[in-house]
Amino acid sequence: MPAETSQPYEYRRRELVEPDWTRFPGWRSVTPAEWESAQWQRAHCVKNLNQLHHVLGDLVDDRFYADLAADQHEFATMSMLVPPQMINTMSPAAPPTTDALYADPIRRYMIPARSDRHPQWPTHPYASRDSLHEHDMWVAEGLTHRYPTKVLAELLSTCPQYCGHCTRMDLVGNSTPQVEKLKLALKPVDRYDAHIAYLTAHPGVRDVVVSGGDVANVPWRGLESYLTRLLQIGTIRDIRLATKALMGIPQHWLQPEVVDGLGRVARLAQDRGVNLAIHTHVNHAQSLTPLVARAAQTALQVGVRDVRNQGVLLRGVNASTTDLLDLCFALQGEAGILPYYFYLCDMIPNAEHWRVAVWQAHQLQHDIMGYLPGYATPRIVCDVPFVGKRWVHMFTEYDREHGISYWTKSYRTSIEAADVDALTRRYPYHDPIDTLPESGRAWWAKQAVAV
Ligand code: SF4
Repeated sequence: MPAETSQPYEYRRRELVEPDWTRFPGWRSVTPAEWESAQWQRAHCVKNLNQLHHVLGDLVDDRFYADLAADQHEFATMSMLVPPQMINTMSPAAPPTTDALYADPIRRYMIPARSDRHPQWPTHPYASRDSLHEHDMWVAEGLTHRYPTKVLAELLSTCPQYCGHCTRMDLVGNSTPQVEKLKLALKPVDRYDAHIAYLTAHPGVRDVVVSGGDVANVPWRGLESYLTRLLQIGTIRDIRLATKALMGIPQHWLQPEVVDGLGRVARLAQDRGVNLAIHTHVNHAQSLTPLVARAAQTALQVGVRDVRNQGVLLRGVNASTTDLLDLCFALQGEAGILPYYFYLCDMIPNAEHWRVAVWQAHQLQHDIMGYLPGYATPRIVCDVPFVGKRWVHMFTEYDREHGISYWTKSYRTSIEAADVDALTRRYPYHDPIDTLPESGRAWWAKQAVAV
């Protein structure tokens, strides 16, 4: 008889747990009522190293803080802003130590350290601010028209939390020593009027991703007014609210004013036959706690049609079969959130240590198939500049030695109306150089010298 063999991944149900925040010296006396208050969470976000030191006390060595300070000075493209809810999911089972924090997947993308970055290739020669050219495709301030039937509406440029790998590092958040941010110029009311005017005049657009930043930072009355106006445009059939805060500060989405307002918008969407969904951004199973599940399930109970997750595939955070499947089972089975997409981290500056090569993503897509229900098996997608999201196997050619994949598309973006070659051109995407064979790395080293 053949020996019994095990599966590459063994599923076991794991119920969600709210980690005990009193293990942090700075939060020893914080009450459950304070913890569940959105105001308390926002007021106690960690925005600098002094505040982080206050929370962690003497649990962590000085070399850790020096490493964070060096990163902020030399590499960070996002300023520090981490809600207590997210810090509490770092080292969740025990008071954090220096080593535990260095290894922690949430810390690795929310509070990057200088030593995390790749020593030789911290950035790709073709990395750029606004790597997806969203700003270039604005048809009104904050309104990106990239796909024929869909638009991205950036209502504001702030979030309740700032992720180190943010693809909108060009616009979102405060300037850092490395990045002077673009600023939105219009008053919010004028920006929103311009969006509504464009969408009213363009009936071919049927789908609006309402984003930012994070819509959790739009005062509720302003957001409800914007959504109500969108729902009055008969040609808009899908509305997706983009909010990482559903995980970062679930307390926001549990406030009575927000729950009641979301219910009104959801009922209006149902009356008009419009699909209203929330899209959130969770990168690791550690981030899912009972409060996050309560926020997602509350949105569903008041009539939002679906809550979906768009994570980012990040080395050192979730780029393994086990991490992805653990996260997907926690989303799908425990939190009522559909695992929808994992994006490859975009080609922004200083992101090479997070980025995953196309062939690695392809392998991960292969390896996660067959465990989850088909409808809840996420697609791993590469967002190719000037092209858009492609499933990771859809390249037309792939030069593995130099890490360059080539992609095509079947539509024009809003800046290519007169571009006769847009539909036949092959658009390149680049793997992180440190993942290439030695000959490929040497080739890129020569290019870098030539530049
Ligand atoms: S929540 Fe989204 S928009 Fe905000 S910093 Fe994170 S990735 Fe960027």
